[in-house]
This record gives sequence, C-alpha cells and structure tokens, in this order.
Amino acid sequence: MVYRAPVVVFVACVLAALYAFVAHAASVAPSQRPVLQIAALPAITPAPLPDQVVHGGMDAGFAPTGSAYTPNAVETQRWYRLTLSSDWKESSSPVLHFSGATYIRISVFAPPDYRRQELWFAQTDSSARFSRHQLAMELPHDLRAGQPVYVRIAADSFTRQIRAGITDMATYQAQDLTHVRLTTLFSSVQVTMILAALCLWVVLRDRVLAYFIGYSSFMLVYLMLTSGEIYELPVGQLLVPLGTHAPWLFAALSAPLSISFIIEFCELRDITPVAARLLGLMRWPYLVLAPLLCFPFAERVHALASVYNVWFMFTSLWALGTVILAVMRRGRQARFFLIAWTPQVLLTCLRVSQVLLSLDLPRWLEYSFPFSIAFFSIVVTIGLADLSLRTRRERDVAHHLADHDALTGALNRRALVRRLHTGIAEARRQHAPLALLFLDMDHFKSVNDHYGHQVGDACLRAVVEAIGDELRPADWLGRYGGEEFVVALPGANRDNAMAVGERIRHSIETLQVHSRGNTFQTTISIGIANLGGPTDTADDLIARADAALYRAKTEGRNRIVSHELQAPGDQLTRPASPA
Ligand code: GH3
Ligand code: MG
Ligand code: MG
Repeated sequence: MVYRAPVVVFVACVLAALYAFVAHAASVAPSQRPVLQIAALPAITPAPLPDQVVHGGMDAGFAPTGSAYTPNAVETQRWYRLTLSSDWKESSSPVLHFSGATYIRISVFAPPDYRRQELWFAQTDSSARFSRHQLAMELPHDLRAGQPVYVRIAADSFTRQIRAGITDMATYQAQDLTHVRLTTLFSSVQVTMILAALCLWVVLRDRVLAYFIGYSSFMLVYLMLTSGEIYELPVGQLLVPLGTHAPWLFAALSAPLSISFIIEFCELRDITPVAARLLGLMRWPYLVLAPLLCFPFAERVHALASVYNVWFMFTSLWALGTVILAVMRRGRQARFFLIAWTPQVLLTCLRVSQVLLSLDLPRWLEYSFPFSIAFFSIVVTIGLADLSLRTRRERDVAHHLADHDALTGALNRRALVRRLHTGIAEARRQHAPLALLFLDMDHFKSVNDHYGHQVGDACLRAVVEAIGDELRPADWLGRYGGEEFVVALPGANRDNAMAVGERIRHSIETLQVHSRGNTFQTTISIGIANLGGPTDTADDLIARADAALYRAKTEGRNRIVSHELQAPGDQLTRPASPA
C-alpha cells in the first residue's frame, strides 16, 4: 500500500511520455510551404565586417549546410546566409525564428534595406511583438526565392544547437499565444502555492514552511528567467546585466533550500539519520558555487557549469534514494514528497536523454517540466497543510493532557490548584464570593472490590459527567485524587453552593451506572467552604472543605456539610443509601 501510489504515478508518466513521443512523431507532416535553406560561412579570424557580408562580398564563401541548425562557434562569431526555396505566397508575412538561442545575441540583416536588427533574449523592449519563447522577427511579405537574409550568431563558451525556422505570422502568433498562456498558468500556480504556504507560515512559524517558500520563490524566478518573462517585470530589468548568469544563480540558490526542505519535510533526521546528515552536508558546495557562477569568468570556464551539473545530478540521486528509504520505513511525509517529485525526476531524465541524443525538444517535453514543478508545489502544499494539521493536533493533545486527567477528562490536581489561585485573585478584585466543594465518593473501595477496577473506572467517568452536567460554564471541576473531586463556583455564596451541592448529590444518588453488564448506584459526600477574608488562601479553602467533608463522612455519608455550619442539625441531611 505504501509503495503503490508513487508506482502508479510513475507508470502513468511513462505511458504519457510514450504516447506523446508517438503523437509528436506522427504530427510531423510534409509541408508545401517554402523551405529555409541554410548556408554557412566557415568560422574565420578576423571575423568579417557586416558591410563585407551583407553586400554579397563573401557570398562565394558560404557553403550549404543541409541541416536545419545554425550553431554558434566557441571562439568567434558565425555567419549564415538564409534563403527560401520558393517565393513567399502565404497570406501573412514570414516570421524568422530561432529556438535554443537563449542568452545568445543574434544579428539579422534582412531585405529590403539590410539594416542590422539585434535579437537578444533579455532585451527590455516595450514594443516587442512576440514572447521570448524564441528569438523572432518579421521578414518582408514579398520575400522571394533566393533573396538572402544574413545572420550573425555571437560566440559563446560552448556550442549550441540553434535552430532557425520560418513560419507565417498567423500561425506563429497562435503558437506564441499558447506558450504565453501555459507559462502564465504555471507561474500563477507557483505564486498561489507560495502565498498559501506564506499564510500557513504566518500562523505556525514552522521552519519547513520557510524552506518551502524560499525554495519555491527561487524556483519561480528561475522558471521566469528561462522563459524570459521576468524581463517584462520592472524588477526583472535589474537582472539584465547578469545575462546568462542569472538562471545559474537562482538554480544554485534554490538547491540548498530544497535540500533543507526535503530533510525537514520528510522528517529524514529521525527516519534515516545517517543519509540525512550526508544530504545536509551536500548543501555547502552550492553556496560556494552560487557566487562563483556570477563572476564574468564563469562564462569562459565551462568546467564550472559542468561541475555544477554533475553535483546537481549527484545530490538529486542521493536525495531520491534517501526519500525512497524513508518511504520504505513508513515515513508518511516522505510518501507525499515522492508522489510530488516523481514526475519531475522522470522528466529530468527524459530531458537529459534528449540533450545527450541531440534530439529536438518536443513541445510537450518543454512544457511538462514547468508543469511538473507546478504539480510538485500543489502536492507538497497539500502535504504541508496535512503536516501543519497534525502538528497542531499533537500540540492541542499535549496541552490538554498537561492540564487534564486522562481517565475522567476533568482538570488534574496541578491545573486545578493553579486555577483556584487565579479564581481567588479574580474574586478578590471583583469583591465577589467564591465557594469550593470537596467531593468524595462513598464506599468506593467496595465498588472496586465487588465489580473490579475497570467497572470502578467507568463509575468514576459517569460520576464526573454527572457532576459536570450540574455546573455552569464558569464553574470548574477537577480530580483532586483517587475518587476525590473539587468543584469551584465563582460568584457563589454559601446558599448557592449548598443548592449546587444538593443538585450534585441528588444527581449521583439517582445515577444508574452501567458497565460490563453490571448496573448499580452510588452516592457521594460533599464538604463546602466559602472564600473568607483577605488572608484566606487556596490551601485554607481546600483544608476547610476537606474538614467539612470529613464531617459529612462521619455523620453517615451521602450528605453535604458546609464548613461554617458547625451546629448539629444545621447540615442538610439525606438518608444514606447503601453503596
Ligand atoms: P469512603 O466512603 O470512606 O470514602 O470509602 P472509600 O472506599 O471511598 O474510601 P477509600 O479512600 O478507602 O477508598 C478509595 C478507593 O478508591 C481506593 C482505590 O482503590 C479507589 N480508587 C482510587 N483511584 C481509583 C481509580 O483511578 N480507579 C479505580 N477503579 N479506583 C480507584
Ligand atoms: Mg477518598
Ligand atoms: Mg471515598
């Protein structure tokens, strides 16, 4: 049962992935539209000037590539010459777009004037017509076959498979709109979950919630950086100078917080202490790597990014193993976490395979990663709510047990005496009377002896319930010892107390106790004391009530004696019934 839920999610994800792969392959239909032909200029140093290229001076050097890619070069910029296989005859203009070109500058020189147009992922241009899903620009509507468009792709520290494509404006904008809808949806889910966790944190101040908020916020910034939408926000513009370092920085900051969150949320320190301690130590390299990744040299030191990636994979696998171990040891939170995390792990594996095999990134894989993060946030937030609820319940139970008697649910002696002190102080302040009833069950030992202890316990519970029924909400009842109880009546004078005592005595006398097939009756004796002068203490009050009780016992039981009523015949007497 423990393992079933994650396994079901895992299998469902694998099936969905297979289906999507097949659907993607089936949807690639041959098109009648003009095809983009790509010719590349070999990477030469010094790099040719734009004027030399765009006026056709270097045309002889361009060689057809036969590939849909326009990769950059590591040391120097690269030039491409793009042409259409036939004249553009679609109803809307052609849009030239480049995917896989995040944080790499592309300059396009297109007809009619061959003016340079800069495409850059992190640009903050308010007149932009497209999202940052791809780097895109509109070409002239009357673009003819063979009419060249020159493209210059900047150098980078490693080679990227940048894919150039051409689509008509109407189709491109429809796809772009879908992209914006999806990215907005994922960001909104993430923001909502962060706010929900924030609300819980305000109430509970639990560390695990703080880790979740920190981790999810950095992850949200990371996602908005990779989709580019963060640059649309006023504060996002501050991140432009960081360029490609920004996503690295936020990924590196979110990783140690996510580890802290996993350790706390899955209660790994209790369930898998050794593995959890090692996992905790794995946070530190991230804190060293994060600032290093921000330095300008990080761009040239490709090994730094590789170290980060390897370390990330290693810690993820270690965390996954530890969480699985915790699930096997019946960790309830770990189970929640595994359900939430499985799709993300699966998609990361698929994404890594796609990159290693140099396959195109299908749309479903592109969007399933942010989707899995949103799914993770939702499931974990439910888990956090569950955790908070349980913590709160445990705290309430602990509070209740600290003050209440486990058998009868009445206040225990410590809480009773404490309340009596505050009750007396309150009565003095308000110049109000206060009465105390000391109750002791008659011949209770014989109930135990006759029916056994369990029946005796049931009798104690029934008696406490019956006493409680006779009290007002402001009165309180406590168990002083074995079968002795104390009732405090704030605001009650001697007559009120006698009346309440009589109601209780009568109710116990007429109570039918049913337990384990036995039915019997019992009685109770009550001593009453009233709060006296300013020097009267809680102990004095209890001692006087106890003395009155002693008299009630010696005078025949099942009766009430008030401490002030010393004269014989003053007490309220009832015929004693046999216990
Ligand atoms: P009296 O009328 O003089 O008060 O007689 P009594 O038998 O009630 O007095 P005594 O103090 O001799 O006996 C109290 C008994 O209460 C003894 C003990 O076995 C029983 N008792 C105390 N606490 C519990 C309890 O939690 N459960 C049960 N079943 N019995 C208890
Ligand atoms: Mg007793
Ligand atoms: Mg007794």
